[in-house]
Amino acid sequence: MNDKNYKIIMLGPPASGKGTQAEFLSEKLKIPNISVGQLLRDEVDKKGERAAEIEEQMNSGGLVSNAIVNELVKNKLSQDEIKQGFIFDGFPRIRIQAKYLDTLTDISHVLHVEVSDQEVENRLSGRRTCSECGDVYHLKFNPPKQEDVCDKCGGKLETREDDTPAGIKKRLKIYHQETEEVVEFYEKKGVLIKINGEQPIEDVKKEIFSKLDLE
Ligand code: AMP
Repeated sequence: MNDKNYKIIMLGPPASGKGTQAEFLSEKLKIPNISVGQLLRDEVDKKGERAAEIEEQMNSGGLVSNAIVNELVKNKLSQDEIKQGFIFDGFPRIRIQAKYLDTLTDISHVLHVEVSDQEVENRLSGRRTCSECGDVYHLKFNPPKQEDVCDKCGGKLETREDDTPAGIKKRLKIYHQETEEVVEFYEKKGVLIKINGEQPIEDVKKEIFSKLDLE
């Protein structure tokens, strides 16, 4: 049931499990989970005008320019499918994006999934992503039923370009430098909820559902 208008943001370092938890919430609340990383990968696949620029920025482990990301987000927010609410995974990542989002809509809950750097490095080194639908697995913690094959769509599982050791270090650095400002931004607004991401997936889910009064 979803009688409130949930407008949720998932924050946390790469591999904090925020994408997995966003899927659980999306199912429970029957609202779309919008992964901005996936929107960007879709743009690359469509081979549009900006595909090369986006691909280069993503593969370097850096952030894609605000102009591109903000436009994708604005388009998404104008669509009917988000009228009942939404979950954003991967946006806003920096303060300027948070301020921009503030001009478009009001956010009801920001879930900050907290995980240490060491744990992020352990998790990312075994991560595999579906080349077709973007579903995420881990060789040890969440293996697919069949090696290198997506359970959901049968697509081929790959190591993302930015899941290399250098890419991981760079993303963590960006996270600490910039995303933490976003955490502060929402803390000041009084909508931030802290979640312990260093628990088994089911326990993280329980903590989130309980803090959102969903069970
Ligand atoms: P993700 O799938 O969320 O890990 O995102 C993959 C990559 O997409 C990131 O490393 C960035 O290059 C890019 N990206 C995702 N979200 C954003 C954002 N809000 N702003 C800028 N770049 C982003």
